[in-house]
Amino acid sequence: MLSVASASLRAATRRSGLRAMATQAPLDPSKLEINQTSAPRPRLPNAELKFGKTFADHMLEMDWTRTAGWAAPTIRPYGPLAMDPAASVLHYGMECFEGMKAYIDAQGKIRLFRPEMNMARLNKSMTRLGFPSLDGDAALDCIKSLLRLDKSWIPRDEGFSLYLRPTAVSTHPFLGVSASDSIKVFVITSPVGPYYPEGFKPVTLFADSVNVRAWPGGVGDCKVGGNYAPTIRPQAEAAGKGFSQVLWLLGHEDGGQLTEVGTMNLFIFHRNEDGEDELVTPPLDGTILPGVTRDSVLALARKWGEFKVSERNMTMGEFTRAIDAGRVHEAFGCGTAVVVSPIRGFQHNGTTYTVPLNKEDPDAGAGKLTQRFWDEITGIQYGRIPSDWSVVVDE
Ligand SMILES: *Cc1c(COP(=O)(O)O)cnc(C)c1O
Repeated sequence: MLSVASASLRAATRRSGLRAMATQAPLDPSKLEINQTSAPRPRLPNAELKFGKTFADHMLEMDWTRTAGWAAPTIRPYGPLAMDPAASVLHYGMECFEGMKAYIDAQGKIRLFRPEMNMARLNKSMTRLGFPSLDGDAALDCIKSLLRLDKSWIPRDEGFSLYLRPTAVSTHPFLGVSASDSIKVFVITSPVGPYYPEGFKPVTLFADSVNVRAWPGGVGDCKVGGNYAPTIRPQAEAAGKGFSQVLWLLGHEDGGQLTEVGTMNLFIFHRNEDGEDELVTPPLDGTILPGVTRDSVLALARKWGEFKVSERNMTMGEFTRAIDAGRVHEAFGCGTAVVVSPIRGFQHNGTTYTVPLNKEDPDAGAGKLTQRFWDEITGIQYGRIPSDWSVVVDE
């Protein structure tokens, strides 16, 4: 009796699921509605741009409900979101985001850098939160329309760009901890300057043996907001001790595994215990954010084929033994905001270690390899070096 009832319930659920799917509208960029601003926002001169502080005139919104699917995407003047105070993003951190940039090349064209990777990662984060998946190509079409409209907001000088922040939040007004019935995906943009206007500024790190950023089975490989709020206090404590970033460790064996630096992926170029030159970054085992810059560094290094390239774990013990033996050539963090960020030292359990910046040129602000990744990646981003990683937004 029970089993018959549950079987028919399952069948009914299947039928209604099919019905819901049949009426759920896909995200359709051809339905994009554009509501242009009549009050353009104040602009700062390039020299005064601070990361993430000022925003362009327009924003993109893509709304989804479980019953109707995707509404017509909308571009409207930048401004506040109206939201029910019960919206589950405000209670359970049901949020994820992306970070990417648009550049103006020497011909005055808008370019994006590997944007399909950001769309794929946004999808991965959204589905991890039980959100619907997002059609990356359709979303990218809408983002391109936003960029065409706000093209004059993309600063033109070398090192300048427009930072894009796609964000997905649950607007579902319900205090139960459950899957969301309504989602808003929005994209705001912010004109930004070069991270290093006066040349590289190498960072010092505090290797944190107490606080952990991500762990096996967690969500360290997703850009979900919940990963970042708990890092604010450890970061402030590190800053209070005079360090620029936290070096995140996992576990305690042999000093713990190296994972990431602040919100950057970590690379170490060294002569390994077998006497080979090797570039190492921790593997994508679920605790590491799969950075687009990380992937690009790995792909370039493998293409050059001049030294061993490894995605493998390295313990603090292995790292400090290599430093003490003079086998570390250079180390850096990488991410969209900075591209690459040279590391000049760190403190672990009270001991201070110095990482060489550039053994050949003591006056250089970055190692030869770090500088080469910088030159190659920024060259591709601004269209100076031809590559299918750089996508022109045609107008
Ligand atoms: C975003 C992010 C990165 C860098 O990713 P990119 O795609 O290269 O910008 C690295 N680590 C963390 C924790 C991040 O949030």
